[in-house]
Amino acid sequence: MPRPVYILSYILLSMTVTFAAYVVSLQAGFDRLAQTGRVRIDQTSDRLLGQLSSFKQLPNILARHPTVMRAFDPKTDLDGLNGFLSNTALLSGARTIFVVNANGEIVSSSNTQATLGANISDQPYMRAALNGRLGFFTALNPDDDARTIFISRAITPHPTRGVVVVAVDVAALEFEWHVDEEALAFFDDTQTAFISNRSSLAMRNISTLEANQTHLFGHPLWTLGDIGELPDEAMIQSKYLPRLEMTARVFLPTQTARSAARLQAALVLAILFGLGVVLWALWLRRKNLSEQLAIEEAANFTLEARVEKRTVQLKLAQYQLVQAGKLTALGEMSAGISHELNQPLAAMQNYAENGAKMLDRDRVQDAKENFGLIKEQIHRATRIISSLRAFARKEKETIEPVNLTEIIDDSLRLAETRIVDAGVKVQRFVDTKSVMVMGGHVRLQQVVINLLTNALDALDQSDEKDILISLSQATQTVTLIIRDTGEGLENPERVFEPFYSTKDIGSSKGMGLGLSISYGIIGSFGGEMSCRNHPMGGAEFSVILQKAAS
Ligand code: ADP
Repeated sequence: MPRPVYILSYILLSMTVTFAAYVVSLQAGFDRLAQTGRVRIDQTSDRLLGQLSSFKQLPNILARHPTVMRAFDPKTDLDGLNGFLSNTALLSGARTIFVVNANGEIVSSSNTQATLGANISDQPYMRAALNGRLGFFTALNPDDDARTIFISRAITPHPTRGVVVVAVDVAALEFEWHVDEEALAFFDDTQTAFISNRSSLAMRNISTLEANQTHLFGHPLWTLGDIGELPDEAMIQSKYLPRLEMTARVFLPTQTARSAARLQAALVLAILFGLGVVLWALWLRRKNLSEQLAIEEAANFTLEARVEKRTVQLKLAQYQLVQAGKLTALGEMSAGISHELNQPLAAMQNYAENGAKMLDRDRVQDAKENFGLIKEQIHRATRIISSLRAFARKEKETIEPVNLTEIIDDSLRLAETRIVDAGVKVQRFVDTKSVMVMGGHVRLQQVVINLLTNALDALDQSDEKDILISLSQATQTVTLIIRDTGEGLENPERVFEPFYSTKDIGSSKGMGLGLSISYGIIGSFGGEMSCRNHPMGGAEFSVILQKAAS
């Protein structure tokens, strides 16, 4: 797949995950907010009920109080009652306490400015009290429009005679509250916020608030617009309170939950972005690595190809060197060989002439003997020629069992003239019976001839001219040792190096290749070649070969 598709998918995935994170976080935030709202409503209504409970007790106590009970006696001192009510109001924190007769006329009041005799029989709290219940009603105070809670109770023991009413100022109750974080209001049955911890909410009808209502995650949300002290957008939690006969509503600002969700989403996005960058970097690294690997592989491939080509060239060069070495040896031998062939030829000529003479004289038996001698010479010549032919021939590079004694014999025969001419004595410590080793006839002969030629070269200037050839056998190997009595090796460590030669350059000798080629040949047979200066003087070369299974 091409790269842009990956990137696009990753971006899409990141956006989806970010959005999901936002939604999940917002929902959790809203749920927490709703929970807070419920707690706030409980706390606030408990607080309000706590404040009101003492006021609720007050009419009960006053309804049984002797001073109040005597209010309707004709002899009653109303001023005294007014004073008592006024004291009680001061002590309890009530706004006003007043006593009303059965007709609904105010007979006595804690408020000295109150219009005594005013008729309030139509007030709902009056009807409730006269019916024997505790009257509990909210209303605006007729004098000053102050929000007031009226609590009423019929005066005992004659309920129909009159009612005592305690008026509580709502603003005074609210004043005692701490500053709450969230705006909260208690709505009456006309849906007007009668009690609230925000003054701007007081006496506000709900219809002026419900600007735009939506729901999110099952929570009602109101977009309130510009209403002082209220958040622009609020989650509404509400609860009907039967004891107050009011509905409490708390206005929870959603802004914090929204910003928290946005922050969380931003965090997730940042993490995803970071992860994306890391993935990108890793991808780049991997790409670089694989490119580098490909380059290295290509380089290796070229190198290997080059090595292979060089190996082939080297093999060819080595093969050519072997041939060159052979030709050198052949050149050295050719003079001796022609001499070698001359001998049997001269002998044959002699025998033939003699044979002819014998026949002339009818000495058939003698002539026959001469023919036999000729045959022997022919045999000798044939063997010399065949050794030479075999040597010059290009041999296949196979390894097979060959007869080492035969190879030594052939080599000595080829070098015989030079040996005899130089006055060298060859001592063979070799059994005449065949010793089979693994190798190639011609190549092995080339090695032996090379060793013999080097020995003859070394003996050129020597007084004692001996070449010792020995053959010993172990279970797996056969060792051929050729030793001479010459000056010995100048530098035994270097003799197998190609082109190392101490012989005069320019002569037919002195290529410095003979021993290095021989070393390679023996190695190719799985054998070993080494040399040393013999303690008694002269050089000694050892050739170890694998024995052929017989
Ligand atoms: P070349 O005979 O052409 O010099 P070789 O590889 O056959 O090359 O021999 C390398 C060198 O090893 C010779 O030049 C000579 O110094 C030394 N060497 C080899 N055989 C003998 C020996 N039998 N006695 C002394 N030195 C020898």
